[in-house]
Amino acid sequence: MNAKEKLVWKKCKKCGFLQYTSHLRCLNCKNNKFELVEASGECSLTTFTIINAPPAEFQHKKSYALGVVKFENDIKRLGQITTQENLYNGMKLRPIYKMICKNLDGKEIYDYIFEPI
Ligand SMILES: [Zn+2]
Repeated sequence: MNAKEKLVWKKCKKCGFLQYTSHLRCLNCKNNKFELVEASGECSLTTFTIINAPPAEFQHKKSYALGVVKFENDIKRLGQITTQENLYNGMKLRPIYKMICKNLDGKEIYDYIFEPI
């Protein structure tokens, strides 16, 4: 597993607050020094929908589930879910890094998808 496949957060070196990597400063104390830490890997579903008219990249699928999942520290992320069956808010999921589609130029696109535990 290379670094790109690991789901990581920024951990504030001053107060220990965990947050998404795109934030430039700590959301808790405004410090700008961080270390990267691996996500726990377990998350829960907070909301989801079924996409019945997929964009061009996902035309090979008739439909798919898209959800917002919540990790430790309330960090949220959008992603596809491996199934459309028996989904409910609060259910436990785990992230899997895999090819999700080929873009319109034929390039393989990788991202996290979420699988019920
Ligand atoms: Zn902080």
